[in-house]
Amino acid sequence: MKILITGGAGFIGSHLADRLLEMGEEVFVVDDLSTGSLKNVEKHSDQERFHLVVDTILNEAVMNELVFKCDQIYHMAAAVGVKLIMNRPVETLETNVKGTEMVLMQANRYKKKLLIASSSEVYGKVMDGENTRLLMENTDFLMGSTTKRRWAYACSKALDEFLALAYYEEKKLPVVIARLFNTVGPRQIGQYGMVIPNFVQKALIDKPITVYGDGSQSRSFTHVADVIDALIRLMAEPEAVGQIFNVGNPEEVTIEELALMVKEMTGSLSEIEYIPYERAYGPGYEDMQRRCPDITKIKNLIHFESKTDLKGIIQSVIDYHKK
Ligand code: UDP
Repeated sequence: MKILITGGAGFIGSHLADRLLEMGEEVFVVDDLSTGSLKNVEKHSDQERFHLVVDTILNEAVMNELVFKCDQIYHMAAAVGVKLIMNRPVETLETNVKGTEMVLMQANRYKKKLLIASSSEVYGKVMDGENTRLLMENTDFLMGSTTKRRWAYACSKALDEFLALAYYEEKKLPVVIARLFNTVGPRQIGQYGMVIPNFVQKALIDKPITVYGDGSQSRSFTHVADVIDALIRLMAEPEAVGQIFNVGNPEEVTIEELALMVKEMTGSLSEIEYIPYERAYGPGYEDMQRRCPDITKIKNLIHFESKTDLKGIIQSVIDYHKK
């Protein structure tokens, strides 16, 4: 089968390309290398079944040709990383909204099956007094004000979901939506803010591990290999079409506990430094106190379960950065 991956030179997209090539598929990648990197895919450059197009997904002629050629599309291209969103809000909104619109339009032209990578960011803030609940696909969202820039990303992804569901319902486009929770593993770089590569990189050189806020906020991390597994199985499952699935690992950790785990596992001499959000991200930042998925839906449909626990996830990032 011919498979198109938008954002296929990025962190998650390149792991997906590796796996699909291993499975014997022919893989087409379109990536503008904004946050992706040639290094992530260079090992495939001699492969006959691998094709890389360095361009933006906003290029209609390029997208038209690629979508026409391929049987399935994984739409992974997006502006990601909280730091990037805080620093370049126009690019975030344009890439995420217009880019997805382009992919949907082209997929619909040739009625090609499409999986869209959305984000657990869409859940926004946890509502007051509801701190104990796990997030389900049909949970209501609570977004912050439009003057708080962070929510631009969440809203752009929510709009992508609305668009995708509209194409499914109105135009019968076969589309699956995967809401990815914090995904971690080799090739993720700390440059755009992601916490685990940041902590590991600092710990390995004994520089202070920077915890933003008081560190009581918690997250649930999933290994990229588990995420890829889920995406490929969702794509193959006819009943997934027209639906949204949380893809995550419900094991939770506070950011303070995470800092201590990274310090211990690297044997680092780093101090743990607490930095106010305002200093870390600039004005207009609000964090989510907790974000943990309910994965009943994906478990029931494709028997998904994470194989790598938090320790294994951290270790894989340590091994990668040591290399
Ligand atoms: N964070 C931190 N130090 C860092 C990077 C991130 O304390 O160097 C915190 C961040 O404020 C958030 C959590 O770690 O509460 C997860 O951040 P990340 O950007 O990885 O993902 P998010 O869940 O915010 O999208």
